[in-house]
Amino acid sequence: MNNGVVIVGAGHAGVQAAASLREEGYSAPVILLGDEADLPYHKPPLSKTFIKDAEARPQLLRGETFYSGNAIDFRPGVRVARIDVAGRQLDLADGGRLPFDRLILATGSRPRVLPLPGAELAGVVSLRSLADARLIRELSAGASDVVILGGGFIGLEIAATLAAGGRRVTVVEAADRLLGRAVAPGVAAHVRRRLEEAGVRVLTGQTVLRLEGNDGRVVGAVTGSGERLPAQMVVVGVGAAPNVDMAEAAGLATGNGIRVDASMRTSVPEILAIGDAASYRHWFTGQDVRLESVQNATDQARLAARTVLGHSEDYAAVPWFWSDIGDMKLQMVGLTAGGDRNVVSGDPAENRFSIYHYLGDRLLGIESVNRPADHMLGRKMLAAGFSPAPDLVAAGADLKAALAAHQEKTAAE
Ligand code: FAD
Repeated sequence: MNNGVVIVGAGHAGVQAAASLREEGYSAPVILLGDEADLPYHKPPLSKTFIKDAEARPQLLRGETFYSGNAIDFRPGVRVARIDVAGRQLDLADGGRLPFDRLILATGSRPRVLPLPGAELAGVVSLRSLADARLIRELSAGASDVVILGGGFIGLEIAATLAAGGRRVTVVEAADRLLGRAVAPGVAAHVRRRLEEAGVRVLTGQTVLRLEGNDGRVVGAVTGSGERLPAQMVVVGVGAAPNVDMAEAAGLATGNGIRVDASMRTSVPEILAIGDAASYRHWFTGQDVRLESVQNATDQARLAARTVLGHSEDYAAVPWFWSDIGDMKLQMVGLTAGGDRNVVSGDPAENRFSIYHYLGDRLLGIESVNRPADHMLGRKMLAAGFSPAPDLVAAGADLKAALAAHQEKTAAE
């Protein structure tokens, strides 16, 4: 039993898992397999800054020498094809085999595809990897009109970035508002207003029926209402699906992701799963979730490393997320689905406000636009299990002091 831990996927979760194993004192082999060619990099900047700057280089998750310096056997360009659960080994796409004692699946997610006529045309892209971002950067340099299918975070970040770079951008969203799955209507309406002020055309409640091409290259998108939108590039940003095929084929329990328990163990206890690919019952809401965020990936990775080392702890990290859309820094903390009332603090007209979401008197989460202090305090409040009374928030009371008083009181009890 000295095959050590093999980690599949060298993204945010996989790299953190490798690092945490060493930080926690794991001394057996750690092998990190990733199917991309590049050194592991931060994904968030791809849609925010990388695609607009011809000179931009990827921001590496760890320096080049980190892996060898920590005895992490990082193998780029290696795709795992199959998990042999009974034999405790992996079949690699190049025909090789790799045994493991423990396996951590950090395979992430991939963009959903739209079965649209014309989706195969050159110039139709989606953004998940550095290779995708390089392609978008290259294509957008020669594009004056860009159509973005989907009004989620990544689509809107790209829209704002490309509009700031002088492109005419149209976002087409099938739902009746932007960011439908992610934020409250008030935040979504604010984002729409500011994007429109920045020159982005936003069509909601509309779909694209087909893409048109010329010589194999996309030249336009036709909407359900019959409008033809010119486009030299079409970005499909309609959400992501977890990479579960391999886990499913191996017989691991899945359901909107690879199912894991509170310690990140799959239905086969020697195999763990983390990050975008994993779904689990969330401690905060009691609901099954699969979260796509850097926080979720890295916190789960830290816990998975501790599980491998024999600690028995339940995942209890406070969920948070951020997105930069033009001049709006959106920050979300908590899980706000199921809330029954909210309180707004600050002024949307100043592009600085937060929405506090409650279920009864329990604070579920805060969505902030350019109010990082609210977000940071929100993380502390949720971690402490403290819900400021909605009236206090509405009155603009000192919530930091209220949290301190709560902590003093609970310490005394
Ligand atoms: P990934 O980082 O996707 O890594 C998975 C890796 O596994 C990939 O490299 C994949 O190629 C590899 N892989 C998959 N299958 C195999 C296999 N069979 N063999 C070998 N390798 C395999 N989150 C935020 O919190 N804030 C943001 O602002 C934000 N912005 C984002 C912007 C973009 C453009 C994107 C794409 C994502 C953004 N996210 C953001 C989400 C965040 O990046 C993800 O939640 C995070 O990357 C998840 O980490 P992961 O390790 O689970 O998956």
